[in-house]
Amino acid sequence: MQSFYEATVDRSASRSSGHSSAYAPLTGRRSVNVCIMGGGLAGLSTALGLAERGVADVAVLEAEQVGFGASGRNGGFVFGGYSLDCADLLKTLGPARARELYTLTTDAVDLMRKRIQRYRIDCDVTDAGVILANWFDEPARLDTQRRLMRDSFGVEWEPVAAAALASELKTSRYHGGLFERNAFHFHPLKYVLGVASAVADAGVQIHEKSPVVRLQRGGAGFVVHTPHGALEARHVVMAGGGYARNVYARVERAVLPIATYVMATEPLGARLKDALDTRAAVYDTRFAFDYYRPLPDTRILWGGRISVRDRAPDIIARLLRRDLLKVYPQLRDVRIEYAWGGLMSYARHKMPQIGRSADGVWYATGFGGHGMAPTTVSGELLAAAISGERPVPDAFATFGLTPAYGALGLAAAQLTYTAMQARDALAARRPSPRSTP
Ligand SMILES: Cc1cc2nc3c(=O)[nH]c(=O)nc-3n(C[C@H](O)[C@H](O)[C@H](O)COP(=O)(O)OP(=O)(O)OC[C@H]3O[C@@H](n4cnc5c(N)ncnc54)[C@H](O)[C@@H]3O)c2cc1C
Repeated sequence: MQSFYEATVDRSASRSSGHSSAYAPLTGRRSVNVCIMGGGLAGLSTALGLAERGVADVAVLEAEQVGFGASGRNGGFVFGGYSLDCADLLKTLGPARARELYTLTTDAVDLMRKRIQRYRIDCDVTDAGVILANWFDEPARLDTQRRLMRDSFGVEWEPVAAAALASELKTSRYHGGLFERNAFHFHPLKYVLGVASAVADAGVQIHEKSPVVRLQRGGAGFVVHTPHGALEARHVVMAGGGYARNVYARVERAVLPIATYVMATEPLGARLKDALDTRAAVYDTRFAFDYYRPLPDTRILWGGRISVRDRAPDIIARLLRRDLLKVYPQLRDVRIEYAWGGLMSYARHKMPQIGRSADGVWYATGFGGHGMAPTTVSGELLAAAISGERPVPDAFATFGLTPAYGALGLAAAQLTYTAMQARDALAARRPSPRSTP
């Protein structure tokens, strides 16, 4: 089963300048100023940030195809914040620096809107906000979150009463919600291909089917090898997400590749409104939450679960269908037409790692399950740093390349997920605090 996104793009038509159906693999040896490894949104946003600042001689090397990784497979939610939740960000950094980093992500949401306009990227934008729906009958969860966002981060998440939510989402599963207005959802692969096209039109060389196999010191700084070519580069940026292996250990050993899954139903036509009478995207308050949204062609795109295992599409479809029916039993007879998985890269501290290591290699990784706006942040920060405009904000140094301990780390992560899921299952069964004597 192909991903819905791959099935609905025409890669041959995606370049505004036209003629090539793909970006040619790297052959031969030449020199560039900046070499970026990874044609996901972290790599391409850096390339676009550099191009917009007039930095010439930039190349992007992508092992497969542009958007092959998480950036072209995700839920399509674009909103502020990071994988580390805002309460923990505040605890770790204190009020000023936490707010500084959070604001970078809301600025990035605005920048993505502007780029969609400026580069005429047709990516099915639905600019209708995001709803956080409360899975638990505990109003304090929403109140606490709402106050935190207002008092510490300066944004209003609007309360949605249980009855109002139930009339938008035709389910009795939730206990009210919060509405985040400055958020949108879109077709992420169309966006990534649009950014790649803008980058290529600005003169950046993109090479697909060009996996970096070795990085060594040499030339003006580094030599980056692919199977059929090499680039001598002054600057190198590592942006291989959860897919990077055996190139640059410092970054790879600092993240864990974690899978999450998505499916798309058949087009529902008028039946869509039997479940979703909203244009907003929805996620819930559990640790391993469901996330879903209506698509312009009346399908529901549904995602969820986190696992250290990459699963086959038919198993993903079965698992996610079960989750869908827990919330919308009225969709029992609906067909699932697409199911797929993708790898996120997680640091132990759950924050992106953005900066330059002691040996001079730049990196942007560890975006976890919340990467659309943060990869845009990293692109801007690295482009500004490489072009000499300003250094990466100090606050990111708090979230360095701490070891993630490979297989051991994955086993620990799976244990944590299982424990958190059990904790959520217990909390969901607890009687409401309002009804306890
Ligand atoms: C299923 C799923 C749902 C998600 N939903 C959301 C969501 O709704 N909203 C949100 O904000 N975030 C979401 N995320 C997270 C978000 O997609 C990621 O955080 C973000 O896309 C990471 O971008 P990236 O560029 O770091 O990595 P990727 O997009 O994975 O890109 C890395 C690229 O590097 C390439 N690469 C790796 N090794 C090499 C090499 N040796 N040489 C050359 N190239 C190499 C890979 O092929 C890949 O294309 C989701 C993620 C997944 C998997």
